[in-house]
Amino acid sequence: MDKVSVADINFRGRKALVRVDFNVPLDDKQRITDDRRIRGALPTIQKILKDGGKVIACSHLGRPKGEFVASMSLKPVADRLAELLGRPVTFAEDCIGPEAANLVDKMQPGDCLLLENLRFHKQETKNDPDFARKLAALGDIYVNDAFGSAHRAHASTEGVAHLFNQAVAGFLMEKELKYLGEALDNPKRPFAAILGGAKISGKIDVIENLIGKVDKLFIGGGMVFTFAKAQGYAIGNSLVEEDRVDMASQIIAKIKGSSTRLYFPTDAVIASEISDSAATEVVAIDKIPDGRMGLDIGPASVELFRTELADCKTVVWNGPMGVFEHPPFAKGTKAIAETLAAMTDKGAITVIGGGDSAAAVAQLGLDDRMTHISTGGGASLEFLEGKLLPGVAALTSKSEVGVS
Ligand code: AMP
Repeated sequence: MDKVSVADINFRGRKALVRVDFNVPLDDKQRITDDRRIRGALPTIQKILKDGGKVIACSHLGRPKGEFVASMSLKPVADRLAELLGRPVTFAEDCIGPEAANLVDKMQPGDCLLLENLRFHKQETKNDPDFARKLAALGDIYVNDAFGSAHRAHASTEGVAHLFNQAVAGFLMEKELKYLGEALDNPKRPFAAILGGAKISGKIDVIENLIGKVDKLFIGGGMVFTFAKAQGYAIGNSLVEEDRVDMASQIIAKIKGSSTRLYFPTDAVIASEISDSAATEVVAIDKIPDGRMGLDIGPASVELFRTELADCKTVVWNGPMGVFEHPPFAKGTKAIAETLAAMTDKGAITVIGGGDSAAAVAQLGLDDRMTHISTGGGASLEFLEGKLLPGVAALTSKSEVGVS
């Protein structure tokens, strides 16, 4: 990784403004229902505190649209962070202003402060320079450990980074860039990508970027049917994006002219409704009757995918193979997750994009058996599209400061 990391820095006596992703789910009593994002930031926070530095952590939570919303306060996160760290965490009720500045002034080496939700100020998402200056004034070094927000050029992810001499990657950010970056730039081959999810429109740029890069491309999920329609198949009432059918034809032609081999499902699980009790049937992918929808890849497709994945050394997966939220249509996604877990056990590198595929893997209890599960759905997609993420671009490069 070309970016300076927290591992390269001794934080002794320094005030680190640390952008973390504490956008955790809360129930209606403001209790945290899943604290994995807080746990994810612990290695970075602990390293700074252990060095004798001061941590001034900041994050967004939800979409409060620039005003104070009590149900989106980070206060419960401060309490949970204190529990996990085993030391007190001070909470500033505003992320900028005199109270935050006073609390920072009082900090001792090894102290941790959490600032209130950044998005209570509308200037955050507007990347307002004045707001960025006020945030930056709280620290003397910047750390970004919020990969999931790195595709957004906001004040706390982008603007602020330019106001420090050193803007460095946290451990979580470093891990994301390592696995996603290595997969794209220097994969162990054969290199496969599995793309699924609802729509082709959200993944077009990813597919375009992966043509010629991956050796094998597997397509599943709802987007199958726009490709199927482009090939003249009978798709019944399956999800289709009519305005993308021509584009799907062009993509198929482009893949055929490249070094990438396309693997398309040969069969589908169909039903006339999406429900937990739907009656299902398996039919050939080109013969879906009217009134029915393709809602998962079928058993022959699972077998084809499994066989063709077997020799792959690197696999990137983004998007479920079917409507996995409902058991009748979850088998394809489950089978792919289990296949990847077994491949990881045998030494393959498996990288799961955030969002629904990460949720499916977690639901199956297979998280620990994948090489890397990205914490950022949108950010990992943009990364796979080949885009430079603004929050990453703004960090200090090793070459800039002579760190090797
Ligand atoms: P995305 O956010 O684009 O990755 O899409 C994820 C969603 O795609 C999940 O909620 C799935 O239920 C949905 N999905 C997967 N396969 C299908 C399908 N064959 N038809 C309709 N929706 C699907």
